[in-house]
Amino acid sequence: MKLPNISRWLPQDHYSFVATSLLLVALALSSWFISRHWIDLHIQSQLQVLKLQSTQATAAAIEHLQLDSQHAREIAQTLSSLSSLRLFLKNARHGPPLQADLDQFGKAFNLGGIWLLDRQGKILAQSTDSQPPPAFDRYTDGKRPLSRLIFDPEQQQARIYHATPVTESGSVTLLLCANLHPINLRSYRIELLVTDSNGIISLADNPDWLRHSLGQPPVVPSASAQPGPLPTRISPLQPEVLLLGPQHQPVLLVSHASNSGDYQVHALADAEPIYRQAREKDTLAAVITLASTGSLWGGVLTILTLKRRRRHHLAMARANDELLCLNRQLKQLATTDALTQCPNRRAAETRVKYEQAKLQRYHHPFCIVMLDIDFFKRINDQHGHDIGDQVLRHFALIGRQTIRDTDVLARIGGEEFLLILPETAFEQAIQLAQRLLDTLAATPLYLTDRTICFTFSGGLAEATTEDNISQLLIRADQALYQAKEQGRCQICSASLPRPQSVAAG
Ligand code: GH3
Ligand code: MG
Ligand code: MG
Repeated sequence: MKLPNISRWLPQDHYSFVATSLLLVALALSSWFISRHWIDLHIQSQLQVLKLQSTQATAAAIEHLQLDSQHAREIAQTLSSLSSLRLFLKNARHGPPLQADLDQFGKAFNLGGIWLLDRQGKILAQSTDSQPPPAFDRYTDGKRPLSRLIFDPEQQQARIYHATPVTESGSVTLLLCANLHPINLRSYRIELLVTDSNGIISLADNPDWLRHSLGQPPVVPSASAQPGPLPTRISPLQPEVLLLGPQHQPVLLVSHASNSGDYQVHALADAEPIYRQAREKDTLAAVITLASTGSLWGGVLTILTLKRRRRHHLAMARANDELLCLNRQLKQLATTDALTQCPNRRAAETRVKYEQAKLQRYHHPFCIVMLDIDFFKRINDQHGHDIGDQVLRHFALIGRQTIRDTDVLARIGGEEFLLILPETAFEQAIQLAQRLLDTLAATPLYLTDRTICFTFSGGLAEATTEDNISQLLIRADQALYQAKEQGRCQICSASLPRPQSVAAG
């Protein structure tokens, strides 16, 4: 398998490699810290929401329990004003019996028991079905009415015990036990616990937790077999989260004491998702760091690659243009005469071949005229080679201005030119060559210090379908020779049976 070449994606020189690596490390570190901070903030906001919900739940539970205690107090007030009770306290032998009233009240209000107790907790009277009351000091301070929520271990149930002194001196106390109205201990993600006046868990959804305490319990004289505190420890990952019970259940604990201070309602909010986030914080931060740094690096690499590719394309396009330009120049050099800018011999031959092919295929006539400047050696000798070159350029200029755009004037030798006249019959060709003679006679080469007049001789040949190119050129050359022979400055034609001279202008 062919592995991708990673090195081309990396910075090429040493310094940019080091700089880019440092930048990447800095980016990764800052991304790591930012994501950890962000996760912390997220956890904190979730804790805040849970706290708020827990506080609302505990407030609702306390309100519910206070209604029960209020109810117990009202029953106690009614009972303490009973005439049978008053008479019993006065040791009156006659009057309505207390026992019947106590039983009737117990049934009517579904009470767990009604007792009349002296200062030592000795029972003076009680309703018929009453169980033994809890230890005296657990429900009263002996002086004032007091409501206490106390867990009854026998019944595995929490009850409200309300104690009211019924004598002025407080020597006799009326104690009654009211059952609690059912309370919803579990709602979405929140579980409620109620610890009684002794810190013992009295109401809980989980029965295993009952009779345990939250934290270290106060010493309770009568509680003979207390199972001890519920295992609780602070989470090392998130200090606000407690790991509760033998299962180390992560919870957020919010506690609320009742107004009388004799019981506490605790909300245990399920903090498992928060605890999991705290546990996986580093992994999550690493993933975010990798993803963000990776995508950033990927983006930078993509931009760099695109830029490099664009630069490469531009360089290629430029090189291509230069090559095309050079090719054009080369082609021009190969087909153009440098001195006169006329097509050279090679270009002239190609054109004649083309016209010859057209003639053979479509019978389009064409003529050629071979031109040679007269006594050019003499011009060179008299005026110098540079002036000779100027004469050649002047001749080419006049020639190009005189002929049609479709005609071609090529330089095929030192002072020899070839006129190619496509779509031109013999008569027209003669006229054109003659016109060139006249024009040149009328426009000599004017220099600053002298004027150079010169002429040329021409040999005209009309192409025939039987011709090949060399035969055609030979015929034109022969006609030129004839023009020279006959005194120069004239056009002779090779196509006529006998050389016909045309008078020079
Ligand atoms: P004729 O009338 O019989 O054609 O005589 P001529 O002097 O023109 O012909 P000849 O062949 O004797 O001389 C041609 C001269 O043209 C010889 C050469 O030095 C000159 N010549 C050829 N090419 C160039 C050129 O590019 N520049 C210049 N200045 N002279 C050239
Ligand atoms: Mg010559
Ligand atoms: Mg000549």
